Amino acid sequence: MSATESTAVDAALAAVPRGLFIGGAWVEATGGGVIPVVDPSTGEEIMEIAAGTAADVDLAVAAARDAYENGPWTRLSPSERGRIVWRIAELVEEHGEELALLETLDVGKPIAASRAADVPLTADYFRYMAGLATKITGETVAISTPGEWHSFTVREPLGVIGQIIPWNFPMLMAAWKLAPALVTGNAVVLKPAEDTSLTALRLAQLAQEAGVPDGVVNVVTGYGHVVGVALAGHPDVDKIAFTGSTETGREIVRAAAGNLKKVSLELGGKSPNIIFGDADLSQAIPTSADAIFYNAGESCVAGSRLYVHHDVYDEVIDGLAVRAKAIRVGPGLDPETEMGPLTSRRHLDRVRGFLESGAAEGAEAVAGGVRDGAGDGDGFFVDPTILVNTRPDMKVVREEIFGPVLVAQGFDDVDEVVALANDSQFGLAAGVWTKDLATAHRMVRRLRAGSVYVNSYTVTDPALPFGGFRQSGWGREHGREVLELYTELKSVAVAI
Ligand code: NAP
Ligand code: MG
Repeated sequence: MSATESTAVDAALAAVPRGLFIGGAWVEATGGGVIPVVDPSTGEEIMEIAAGTAADVDLAVAAARDAYENGPWTRLSPSERGRIVWRIAELVEEHGEELALLETLDVGKPIAASRAADVPLTADYFRYMAGLATKITGETVAISTPGEWHSFTVREPLGVIGQIIPWNFPMLMAAWKLAPALVTGNAVVLKPAEDTSLTALRLAQLAQEAGVPDGVVNVVTGYGHVVGVALAGHPDVDKIAFTGSTETGREIVRAAAGNLKKVSLELGGKSPNIIFGDADLSQAIPTSADAIFYNAGESCVAGSRLYVHHDVYDEVIDGLAVRAKAIRVGPGLDPETEMGPLTSRRHLDRVRGFLESGAAEGAEAVAGGVRDGAGDGDGFFVDPTILVNTRPDMKVVREEIFGPVLVAQGFDDVDEVVALANDSQFGLAAGVWTKDLATAHRMVRRLRAGSVYVNSYTVTDPALPFGGFRQSGWGREHGREVLELYTELKSVAVAI
């Protein structure tokens, strides 16, 4: 790192507000506990964040409740709320370099990706939702009940929303949660992942600067088993919006049963990416490599199960192996880095466990693999890995690894590959590569997934609904569909 870069990094870290954000003020956690923030590229501690407690969750929920019931937020016009949320987007852009540095330091992702993707996508998300603020509508309904009626529906905010997010795209996930909750007039308590809370803290401060009234956005950092559990079970929280693993999703649902709060879930995936014999391999090979190796495979929609028609199997696997080996793995802050480390030591151990399991079950690595796993220094590095000779019953094929590990299998016909692709507890995304229009449309119909990409992969857009079939989740974020997650629908019948 040059002296200028290290000054910029120090300034970015210094600008992160210390403590929990409750009722518009930065406060220490009850009991004063802290959690170390670790740079995954070095394994070194770079600062500390507050370890919130159940008592802090009580305080944050009370602040949100007060802001919701008594504050100005719900009384603002949709246009005024939209302007404030739009202003958050502008502030994200104004502080883009600082936020990109924080995201890279915290998550390990390449600085080029933080600059080109995480920051602009976060700003775009706030902008899209800002526009939605003025487009929240109900319907008039012609009812057949005897008499004369004016019947209509209105959408109202839910109240106090608990939001729990993961560590793979921390700032973008905060935007996906905060923006729709804000434009619909709710108040929020956000719990970022314990490993990656820095951008959420800064974002909350920028939201305040943009004009979000005190208490409308609260951030309680801390452990999932403490803060997350308290939020999910809290009797005065009206809804939990969760993004994370399917296992934790199940715990959220159990915890939410107490007051039957609403729940929306964006969970894991093990998404099939299918290459037919007639596909344009000059596109299919590089995009399929990105589908699994982008963000070191720490992506819920990652195309992690590859199915290739036998006619082109060798060509595709060879092409992918060449690309995998050419990816420059290194520290996130190095501008040459194409793939950074995994985000935590815990996750590194988990991914290594999968690589060992694959080897023990007979899978063969044509790139990366268990022995190549060592990286630079003490960072949490894994090499881009492609496993062949895999079978549908292997752990590496069935479970979500959430790392840069692709499992490949060959196929001969459409029915066979549909059965293989749909043989999963998950249903988040799927990719199809073919030049034949009929094959493409048939596959779109038959794949059990919330998002299907044809001759492409990982197209997420604020306008395009996003969510999972099966155990990949409940509900759809983005687009107008997200309004259903953050509003109650009231039916009105006026006798006239
Ligand atoms: P995770 O363990 O489920 O954690 C997600 C969040 O939940 C974290 O903030 C975590 O806190 C918190 N948490 C943990 N246990 C909790 C509990 N019992 N009650 C309430 N909150 C709890 O998942 P992760 O390992 O961080 O993230 C990776 C997973 O998320 C993958 O499976 C991936 O597919 C999924 N994901 C899905 C999407 C999507 O949109 N569908 C997007 C991104 C990621 P701590 O940080 O303290 O553990
Ligand atoms: Mg970290």
